[in-house]
Amino acid sequence: MSEVLVLVENTPQGIRKSSLELLTAARRLGSPSAVLCGAADDAAVASLGEYGAATVYVVPGTDGYLSVPAAEAIVDIAGRTNPVAVLVTSGPIGKDVAARVAVRLGAGIVTDATDVRSEGGVVTTSQTVVSGQWVATAQVTSATAVVTVRPNAIAPEAAPATPAVQTVDVAFSAAATGAKITASNPKVSTGRPELTDAAVVVSGGRGVGSEEGFGVIERLADSLGGAVGATRAVTDLHWVSHDLQVGQTGKTVAPSLYVAAGISGAIQHRAGMQSSKTIVAVNKDPKAPIFQVADYGVIGDLHKVLPALIDEIGKRKG
Ligand SMILES: Cc1cc2nc3c(=O)[nH]c(=O)nc-3n(C[C@H](O)[C@H](O)[C@H](O)COP(=O)(O)OP(=O)(O)OC[C@H]3O[C@@H](n4cnc5c(N)ncnc54)[C@H](O)[C@@H]3O)c2cc1C
Repeated sequence: MSEVLVLVENTPQGIRKSSLELLTAARRLGSPSAVLCGAADDAAVASLGEYGAATVYVVPGTDGYLSVPAAEAIVDIAGRTNPVAVLVTSGPIGKDVAARVAVRLGAGIVTDATDVRSEGGVVTTSQTVVSGQWVATAQVTSATAVVTVRPNAIAPEAAPATPAVQTVDVAFSAAATGAKITASNPKVSTGRPELTDAAVVVSGGRGVGSEEGFGVIERLADSLGGAVGATRAVTDLHWVSHDLQVGQTGKTVAPSLYVAAGISGAIQHRAGMQSSKTIVAVNKDPKAPIFQVADYGVIGDLHKVLPALIDEIGKRKG
C-alpha cells in the first residue's frame, strides 16, 4: 500500500488533535507515515501509533528554525518513499510548508480541505468556499497530492498500530537554516482549551455591549470547560484579542457545542463555525440570521439568559 506522509505536531501537552485528524484521513488513502520534526518521546510515538501510524519518521535538527527545514524533510522522505499524498494541517505554517513541498515535488496542491478521500484511486478533496455557501470537489492527478486539511473537519478515530520508528538525517540547505528563531515567549495560559481543539466553544458578539460585558461569555465558557471565541466586531473593538476571532478571516472551529451570544450571524462569522455539531444562539432579535444555523435558539437579553444558565449549570454540577 502506498505511503501517505503526515506532518505531525508534538507539543508539551502531546500530539496535537489536528495531527490525529490527519492520520485518520491518511488511512483512507494508504498507509499513514508520521513525519515528526524534532525530538520524539515515547508518549508521542504511542499516540501516533494509536491513530494508525505505520511508520514514524523522526527528523532531528529542525528545532529553532522556521518552516523551511520541515519542508525539506518532507521532500527528502518523499524522494525515498514516493507517497501518494502529503497531508499537513491548514494554518500559516502548514500552508507555508505545503506550498514549498508542492513546488519541490511538482505536485498538485489543495489547501483548506474539509474532507479527503480516494475515488477510483485518485486523491479527492472537498473545500468549503464562498463563506461556507458552496462545497467544491477537487481531484489531484499528479503522482503525489499535497493537501492541507482544516482542523476539526475530520473526527479523529483510533486504529491502533505499532509504528516502526526511523530517524532521518536530512542535509538541510543553507537557506533552510538561514533564519533562526532567537526567542519565543509563550502567552500566559488562560487554563482554557485551545479554541480550534475545544469540544465546547462559547462566543460573544457585539451584543455583549462592552469589554466588561464580555465577562459573562468567559464565565459561561469556564462553567462548561470550554474555549472562548468572538466575532470580528468584538476583536476590532479590542474587547478581546484577535486570536479569539472565529470566522472567514479568523479561526475555523467545529466543536460538539457552539454557543453564539449577541452574534448576528453574518456570513463571514458562520463560515468559521457552522460545522459545529450543536449550535445554541442567544439573541434579542428574533430575525437575527444566526437562528438560521442554530439547533436551539433563545430570544432574549444575553445578560439575563447567560447568568441564569451559569447558575443552572452550577446547580447541576452540585
Ligand atoms: C472580508 C470580511 C471578512 C470578515 N471576517 C469575519 C470573521 O472572520 N469573523 C466575524 O465574526 N466577522 C467577520 N466579518 C465581519 C462580519 O461581516 C460582521 O460584521 C460581524 O461578524 C458582526 O459581528 P457581531 O455579530 O458581533 O455584531 P452585529 O452584527 O452588530 O450583531 C450583534 C448582535 O447582537 C444582538 N444583541 C444586541 N444586544 C443583545 C443582548 N443584550 N442580548 C442578546 N443579543 C443582543 C443584536 O440583535 C445583533 O444580532 C468580516 C467582514 C468582511 C467584510
